[in-house]
Amino acid sequence: MPTPDSAAPCPCGGETYGTCCEPIITQSAKAWTAEAVMRSRFTANVIGDLDHLWRTWHPRTRPQRVLPSGNQWLKLEVADVVDGQPGDVTGVVEFVATYRDNWRTKTMHERSGFEYRAGRWLYTEALPPTQ
Ligand SMILES: [Zn+2]
Repeated sequence: MPTPDSAAPCPCGGETYGTCCEPIITQSAKAWTAEAVMRSRFTANVIGDLDHLWRTWHPRTRPQRVLPSGNQWLKLEVADVVDGQPGDVTGVVEFVATYRDNWRTKTMHERSGFEYRAGRWLYTEALPPTQ
């Protein structure tokens, strides 16, 4: 998907791209919470911004190079947030992402771990979802 217009709905479900994920992806604003980074990473997957995925991935766990997922990401629902607020050191964001893979619609359910490091929230790893 091409980068949306600033006035268009944000791919992550936020009101508009320009007030939601765009400032974070273009680095004109900081993400203050782990959820904001998680949402911007979903949107980066939608628009294929691999640099943003790499930039927001903790150096301890990130791959040398981020490869495109190959999926068409359709929808994000944030199911739970634990910490990840200003002043926290870690955070967890549980989400369900809907995507299309070879014409089949599938969902990915994950609890993403985040760590606050050098003034930024960074994705660390996928944790198993709680039942
Ligand atoms: Zn967004």
